[in-house]
Amino acid sequence: MLFRIAIVGAGPAGYFTAHALQNAQTDELTFQIDMIERLPTPWGLVRSGVAPDHPKIKTVAKVFEKIAKEPNFRLFANVEIGKDVSIKELRDKYDAVVLSTGSTIGKKLGIAGEDLANSLSAAQFVPWYNAHPDYTEVEVDLSSDTAVVIGAGNVAMDVARMLALNPAELDPTDTATHALAKLHESKIRTVIICGRRGPEHASFTSPELRDLPKLEHTDVYIDLNEIEKAQARAEASGEIDKELRNNLAAMRLIAEHEKKGVARKLEIKFLATPLEIKGNGKVEEVIFGINQVESDDKIISTGKTFSIKCGLVISAIGYEVGDFAGVPVESGRITNIGGKVEHNLYVVGWAKRGPNGVIGTNKSDASDVVDLLISELKDPKESNGITDLLKSGHEIIDQAGWEKINASEILSGEPHGKPRIKEVDWKRLISLGRA
Ligand code: NAP
Repeated sequence: MLFRIAIVGAGPAGYFTAHALQNAQTDELTFQIDMIERLPTPWGLVRSGVAPDHPKIKTVAKVFEKIAKEPNFRLFANVEIGKDVSIKELRDKYDAVVLSTGSTIGKKLGIAGEDLANSLSAAQFVPWYNAHPDYTEVEVDLSSDTAVVIGAGNVAMDVARMLALNPAELDPTDTATHALAKLHESKIRTVIICGRRGPEHASFTSPELRDLPKLEHTDVYIDLNEIEKAQARAEASGEIDKELRNNLAAMRLIAEHEKKGVARKLEIKFLATPLEIKGNGKVEEVIFGINQVESDDKIISTGKTFSIKCGLVISAIGYEVGDFAGVPVESGRITNIGGKVEHNLYVVGWAKRGPNGVIGTNKSDASDVVDLLISELKDPKESNGITDLLKSGHEIIDQAGWEKINASEILSGEPHGKPRIKEVDWKRLISLGRA
């Protein structure tokens, strides 16, 4: 039997869903997989999220392209749900619809001054430096000497590194051309990451932490005293798990490594809750409350404060899904049980479980949802899928079109020693795909 499955969103979770479906095929059970994507380009966060100075992480795109080459896979990029087709129409035409739309809205701090100019969310700043066509116009002012990054996760670390690196290190990367030009003129020399809890509670991962002392043109600081106190607290509360042990060891390495005495500095501070962003029309200062860790791992305020003068604030405190074409949303995720939303509607990835886990986490997650989906399939529908739904003349980017865009970007990068130069203009992307 042949079942038609629509996957909405061409990021890692979408591709791993397609892969799980491909792997589940037998002589009796086959799938036509149509992947629908709003942008003219696929790969989701691998294209517009992963930091440009971490190109190794992006090699997973080769896996995506292999999945896309299978004869039962079709790409329909440049198709927007809610505008070009509705979820309801897809559910009528397909045996199952899987939403893999991620979470794209940056969580808000909810403090005074958050809306001042140059107070940005990582949900704007990251796609800006990664050439996402919707974020080219984000106003980023890098004319002050200090930037504050709020949050103690890997996105905060990516953002801080991008600001603290010598921009020449980004020349051989696929950083957006507009962002690279701005970063070259940046006056920022001190970047301070502030986490609200202790080092033992940070969500950084140790490989990322261990990379920091290797930065060639930036000195990285963590207060050794804070790490030792965190270590003692963690030991006092029982056995330290491997992940935490590695994280604390990596932080100690940062604290203890010899500084180069260079002008570019990246500092990680803990136990600092942002209370207010101050400034006359534009960010000038952040006021933090100082916290302490109680014996039961609870964080309480000491009632004391400190402030950092800075001209840029980026909050990297997590993401949530926005209003999504009538699909129920709860606590920043699409409401689901084990990936099931409603009859023949499923969800995978960050939209399902919230913004956590690395790219590989989506593999097992998608595979579990595909198992559930297959167990609920009944009689296959007769339909041509999305081709019946799109208005005549609607220009889609299919796999062949995307391969043209991909080849053109790679070719433009070659003379500059870059992996690619990303095209940011929506219309030009479409014409490249048409060429
Ligand atoms: P995250 O790991 O959940 O970190 C969010 C941080 O924001 C936490 O430190 C959290 O502190 C803090 N936070 C939340 N609300 C706050 C508030 N109101 N005020 C101050 N701080 C607040 O999220 P993420 O950094 O966005 O990363 C998302 C996922 O992508 C993670 O799984 C991450 O590992 C992954 N990622 C991986 C890589 C990589 O592998 N290289 C790169 C980027 C992202 P609390 O803990 O106190 O809530």
